[in-house]
Amino acid sequence: MKTRLLNPGPVNISTTVRQALLKEDICHREPEFSALQADIRRKLLAVYDLDADWAAILLTGSGTAAMEAMLSTLGHADKPLLILENGVYGERLARIADIHGIGHSLMQQPWGEPIDMGRLREMLARGVGLLALVQHETTTGRLNELEQVAALGDEYQVPLLVDAVSSFGAEEIRFDEWNITAAAATANKCLHGVPGISFVITRRKAIENLSANPSSLYLDLRNYLIPQDNGSTPFTQSVQVMYALDAALDEHARTGGWTARRSQYREKMQLVDTGLLKLGISPYLKQGASSSVLHAYHLPDGLSYIKLHDELRKRGFVIYAGQGKLAETVFRVSMMGDTSTADAEELVDAIADITSANHV
Ligand SMILES: *Cc1c(COP(=O)(O)O)cnc(C)c1O
Repeated sequence: MKTRLLNPGPVNISTTVRQALLKEDICHREPEFSALQADIRRKLLAVYDLDADWAAILLTGSGTAAMEAMLSTLGHADKPLLILENGVYGERLARIADIHGIGHSLMQQPWGEPIDMGRLREMLARGVGLLALVQHETTTGRLNELEQVAALGDEYQVPLLVDAVSSFGAEEIRFDEWNITAAAATANKCLHGVPGISFVITRRKAIENLSANPSSLYLDLRNYLIPQDNGSTPFTQSVQVMYALDAALDEHARTGGWTARRSQYREKMQLVDTGLLKLGISPYLKQGASSSVLHAYHLPDGLSYIKLHDELRKRGFVIYAGQGKLAETVFRVSMMGDTSTADAEELVDAIADITSANHV
């Protein structure tokens, strides 16, 4: 039985993507590699129709590598960086800033609550140079209001650094209109590739204008842009993972791009929502606050996460625990990856089975 991964990455991959891993061996100093890298970088920009003012920089590493590369390279502004935190990944942004000695202020929000725009305005009015935030806070499944935040940022001329790791490829990101300087993402979430490659989509100017000293060798985006433009790479790349990402990007485009992927996720998440509600299991967030990618649910009374997880695992599903302070009270389900509406329905049936057995 195929295990259905309903955790927020790594995701189930399609047969086409899996077969791409088996292509011939190539050296990362040969022309075949240059062509593959150029294709991927072009296709990544094409996901959101970005022009030549933008560049996709490929890194070897998981999504956090891209977050750290983005923030450590671009986080030093003339005026302080403001980090918005309403979950574990916002905390991670702040931790990265601390480690790299990037002066910043923090706006902490109660997890799951709408962003307090009044408070954000006050913080921006104090003089902020850059605002870093997570688009889809995977901790709770909350889709942060990037559009409103960007509009406020615009008033104070504050551009955005966005953790789009669990949204790139399936949620709306208006890079130009929202005054985004850079966004970090990964191969193996909404793009349905294999883990091992992450990337930063950045305005070329932002990299060219940097004056701060590097605080990392491996994660400094300046070390990548020109070599990658020239068909090279400063360090060994995950060649096979790149084959898979290239195939995944083709599949993404062929199946209708980010809007179609969003609709597919929504349809499956809706089936899960409706099915679970009938079992008395309600979503953690208020209606309309969740992403299309992942929803968090209250654990039913008397059923521990471990029990639910282990029983589902026996039936071929992997779900995900709550993170941080939500570890004991919620569970999470993501419909990313090569999953079907039948998977969503079978998940609901399996949970129905487990909860009814739990009461006898
Ligand atoms: C998954 C995720 C990350 C990165 O996690 P890795 O384990 O390093 O791939 C970062 N931000 C968000 C919002 C995520 O969902």
